[in-house]
Amino acid sequence: VICKVSLAQISDVDRAVAVAKEAFETGEWGRMNARDRGRLIYRLADLMEQHQEELATIEAIDSGAVYTLALKTHVGMSIQTFRYFAGWCDKIQGSTIPINQARPNHNLTFTRREPIGVCGIVIPWNYPLMMLAWKTAACLAAGHTVVLKPAQVTPLTALKFAELTVKAGFPKGVVNIIPGAGSLIGQRISEHPDVRKLGFTGSTPVGKHIMKSCAVSNVKKVSLELGGKSPLLIFNDCNLHKAVRMGMGAVFFNKGENCIAAGRLFVEESIHDLYLNKVVEEVKKMKIGDPLDRSTDHGPQNHRAHLDKMVEYCATGVQEGATLVYGGKQVPRPGFFFEPTVFTDVQDDMFIAREESFGPIMIISKFADGDLDGVLKRANNTEFGLASGVFTQDLSKALYISERLQAGTVFINTYNKTDVAAPFGGFKQSGFGKDLGEEALNEYLRTKTVTIEY
Ligand code: NAD
Ligand code: MN
Repeated sequence: VICKVSLAQISDVDRAVAVAKEAFETGEWGRMNARDRGRLIYRLADLMEQHQEELATIEAIDSGAVYTLALKTHVGMSIQTFRYFAGWCDKIQGSTIPINQARPNHNLTFTRREPIGVCGIVIPWNYPLMMLAWKTAACLAAGHTVVLKPAQVTPLTALKFAELTVKAGFPKGVVNIIPGAGSLIGQRISEHPDVRKLGFTGSTPVGKHIMKSCAVSNVKKVSLELGGKSPLLIFNDCNLHKAVRMGMGAVFFNKGENCIAAGRLFVEESIHDLYLNKVVEEVKKMKIGDPLDRSTDHGPQNHRAHLDKMVEYCATGVQEGATLVYGGKQVPRPGFFFEPTVFTDVQDDMFIAREESFGPIMIISKFADGDLDGVLKRANNTEFGLASGVFTQDLSKALYISERLQAGTVFINTYNKTDVAAPFGGFKQSGFGKDLGEEALNEYLRTKTVTIEY
């Protein structure tokens, strides 16, 4: 036990939505001009930077993220996200549109881009601060007020963030953080009649449920970032050293608790054994340990239930007849440590080929040399479509594949390379609506058309 956090009640949501509504409609925030709003968000980013070691330490203790990664990615990218969206505040503009009307009347039609109202945000536990940042930054830049629920197992950086918004000088009611249970607090936020937009990141089943709640309550605008089982295609003409190093990152980054983690590796037959051996050699060198220790590569899984899920997932893989090459067990030390694991000979219809593990488990299968369209078909044979990757030195092949892969992101000769300026989000049952980039801003705006006759 590291600390105790109060569980919110449904009445807390109602109070938060009420003050958020007031702050939006009649408060100082609603009247603030866009450039001042941007300045406040920049100030918040500066404060986050001044507290980055503290935020990274809290994140490491609360989520098990390795401190060095928490500092660079969890906290580092969060700060960048606020700076990026702060810059958008005074660049939100509509257009002037020629409409087809006969004279003698003259017409002017223009559009305004407006915030929608109180915005609800519900996020998962894998990147607690970063998921908050991706949504909250775009949301505040667009001029909303926010009611956010962090995941129940990782509320701490969100609470520290709330403190920093007060220090930065955000008016009361603009940012509201409510830790609590999904089935109560998340549910109430998604069905609240005064919440007009919902941003959700989490699993596909909960996403479906939330979409229903948004529809039934008041037809809220909703965006969903859901699960993934991203394919990674490794061809025999790749830079093998890079494909090994980045393939490892694609699976083991943040102990596999990574939405875009490569859930299925397809390796061309002629390099399969070599690739596998090199990966296992590297996996053996990974240093498992205390996330606060600066030399640790691999920290504990987020919480007990998730660790148990990994144990079960691997047992299923073995039962189905996949070859367990390395790992597959809990590490015999206190805490929720799970061995980085490698499976091969995985068939497409196996559970471990289809279902997301969300843990440090590499799933490899072979494809016949040169069978480009065959492997593409297998890669696309999934209801998920979050990310994907390909390693080949053949640019034409890489571009052809990037055209064919049904996923919101395609990495070529790299992986995990997300950026605050580049739109991020899934296809198919990985959801819809983007985070990051200009497109994310659009998720939090509505367009009003104004026509004048003169
Ligand atoms: P989850 O769906 O179980 O929970 C996500 C959030 O929803 C939590 O805050 C939870 O409390 C809340 N919730 C649960 N029931 C609810 C309900 N009925 N109404 C409203 N809210 C409710 O997901 P998780 O286990 O926290 O996170 C892991 C999942 O998130 C994985 O599937 C992963 O792929 C996905 N994920 C996706 C992305 C992405 O960008 N696509 C990023 C990170 C994680
Ligand atoms: Mn925790």
